[in-house]
Amino acid sequence: ADAAMYAAKRGGGTAYAFFEPHMNAGVREQIELQRDLRQAIERGELELHYQPKVSSGRNVITGVEALARWKHPVRGMLSPGVFIPIAERFGLINALGNWVIEEACHQVSRWRDQGLRIRVAINLSVHQLRQDDLVPRVEKALRTHHLDPALVIFEVTESVAMEDAAGTLATFERLGGIGVKLSIDDFGTGYSSLSYLRQLQVSQLKIDQSFVRDLETSADARAIVKAVVGLAHALNLSVVAEGVETEAQRDVLTALKCDELQGYLYAKPMTAALMGQWALDIDPPTDMKFANSTFVD
Ligand code: C2E
Ligand code: MG
Ligand code: MG
Ligand code: MG
Repeated sequence: ADAAMYAAKRGGGTAYAFFEPHMNAGVREQIELQRDLRQAIERGELELHYQPKVSSGRNVITGVEALARWKHPVRGMLSPGVFIPIAERFGLINALGNWVIEEACHQVSRWRDQGLRIRVAINLSVHQLRQDDLVPRVEKALRTHHLDPALVIFEVTESVAMEDAAGTLATFERLGGIGVKLSIDDFGTGYSSLSYLRQLQVSQLKIDQSFVRDLETSADARAIVKAVVGLAHALNLSVVAEGVETEAQRDVLTALKCDELQGYLYAKPMTAALMGQWALDIDPPTDMKFANSTFVD
């Protein structure tokens, strides 16, 4: 099956020629999906949804994270947890990732034109980090949309950042050089060395939602969050907690001095139009007051 998949990948549009009767449904499904995904990217059928991050102390929106969405014509809405790995496996991730960069920058410029200064976080996959023209692409998107580079932050998962430490370091330096910000996603699930972390030009750590989920029941999870916040602040980094679902979690995270919170408690990822509305809303249906058209660092 691996050989067939390799052939299918190299064959691109002729994937079906490599089908073998013994191929299992999983592989077949993947090959079908990669064909559909290739088309969806080419036809511009993907969408970005946005999820806000909120300052834990001052209750203002600090930025939004762009999350890719694909409504498959037959299978319905597919999770990026499904199609991002397929894009990576079949060589589509750079095309997809380049579209995400362009679209997210475009959207920030549309919000700016509506008077909203919203910072956007863009997820980067390992293949994008290794792509030679990543930095020029980002520069081009910033230039095209006349964006302040500080409005863009790239999220790279800790495991990806560690996988090719030297390569990540070099790319982060180049990205930092053009003025965009960098964040380590799913922090706590990989194994960063502290000296490496110090060398990376990041400005933010995102605590993985697995720790947030266990905050109320696990003293270990609380100890880990406390340690990560302490480490981050000692290194002059801000800390975001992802996957915040309950008020109890919010209270613990606030008490532990976590800087920003993100999760269903505040909002699920939503369309750009709804996100703009949400940010503009000076009297949101929650107990919080969001400062209109501001973000904090
Ligand atoms: P991530 O970057 O760690 O994003 C957080 C995920 O948690 C998102 O799932 C988000 O919708 C979900 N989430 C947010 N708040 C909560 C909460 O309170 N509870 C729970 N249970 N979940 C919450 P999503 O959108 O399905 O994305 C999954 C992953 O797919 C992302 O994880 C990211 O690694 C990847 N991804 C999404 N969009 C892109 C993209 O444009 N490029 C790349 N390379 N990866 C992407
Ligand atoms: Mg992320
Ligand atoms: Mg994350
Ligand atoms: Mg995560």
